[in-house]
Amino acid sequence: MGVFEAMGAEGEHEQVVFCEDKRAGLRAIIAIHDTTLGPALGGTRMWPYKTEEDALRDVLRLSRGMTYKASAAGLNLGGGKAVILGDPRTDKSEALFRVFGRFVESLNGRYITAEDVGTSVHDMEYIFMETKYVTGVAPAHGGSGDPSPVTALGVFVGMKAGLRAAFGTDSFQGKRVALQGLGNVGRNLLGDLVKAGAKVIVTDVDEERCERARREHGVDVVGVDAIYDVPCDVFSPNALGAVINDNTIPRLKCKVVCGGANNQLAEERHAVALRERGILYCPDYVVNAGGLINVYVEMEGYVRERALRMAEGIGANLERVIKIASEQGITTAAAADRFAEERIQKIGDVKKGFFGGI
Ligand code: NAD
Repeated sequence: MGVFEAMGAEGEHEQVVFCEDKRAGLRAIIAIHDTTLGPALGGTRMWPYKTEEDALRDVLRLSRGMTYKASAAGLNLGGGKAVILGDPRTDKSEALFRVFGRFVESLNGRYITAEDVGTSVHDMEYIFMETKYVTGVAPAHGGSGDPSPVTALGVFVGMKAGLRAAFGTDSFQGKRVALQGLGNVGRNLLGDLVKAGAKVIVTDVDEERCERARREHGVDVVGVDAIYDVPCDVFSPNALGAVINDNTIPRLKCKVVCGGANNQLAEERHAVALRERGILYCPDYVVNAGGLINVYVEMEGYVRERALRMAEGIGANLERVIKIASEQGITTAAAADRFAEERIQKIGDVKKGFFGGI
């Protein structure tokens, strides 16, 4: 498939930039999907892609996803993403990230980068030496630090909106939550849920993390696969993508799916399957936007209280999405896309016309 054909297939991108520097060993692709709402923001992923086509497809898909996430979160940001073709364990160097930073700088702020799978805050510091268009840098450089408490808060308020829709009350008293993954997001979310009075059942591949959760919060621990069979009110994926699939959907015993993990649905059709089972799906990119909100606030001069306050708005965003789904008779996943697209169209219209200045 040709590059323009691929751009069309993955949703009408504005610009794709191929970057190479042989001496630094850099091969990267930057994709800018849509800048109607503002500069295209999205992390830089480093991955040993099998083929260039795989890398291109991934960056196009991910950058489009960022457009939707930013729009649904009410941010003045467009969607972008970058991929560096290489093995993060063996191919990283100062030169590689600094050259990449220069390519980012050449886009004059149309694309703003951040860390992602395979890159770290440390790598961002090299990029930061060459461009100011990077966010999620270390707190010592004015950065916002760990975004996961903000992400977890967004998931928590999203879950409350999910409870309101499914049960008519957002009280966690007497509610059972099956929590998958006790990493940065899951650990913070667990604290919020226990404090709110929920009965939480947890799992993680890391036994030490499970033990710590049991010790600190007195929660029950189940096996990694058994989490799908736990009778509960909410199933909360906070580990991997594609956990909502043909195998797991028939097993779920919940009324709501709401978690921080990215790309929870293995395929689009699984949103329909959840709906048919009477399970309310809280779309992942709507509820896990706290991380993006966090770096957005960093761009304006970081104040954690402001980031937390903005993340509280995720509850209202999800309510709108649920309302669209019920009014239009579509899945919440499709409704989230419509919600995001509608804002892009409306704000695009607001920006039309000449109102002085240059
Ligand atoms: P993390 O790596 O800190 O935590 C993931 C946890 O999941 C780890 O404890 C890991 O042991 C566990 N895990 C892995 N495989 C598992 C399995 N099969 N069953 C149960 N547990 C398993 O990652 P994180 O930062 O907490 O992010 C979690 C998810 O949320 C990811 O999908 C991430 O993309 C998404 N997300 C995170 C943020 C953020 O602010 N950190 C923001 C938006 C989205």
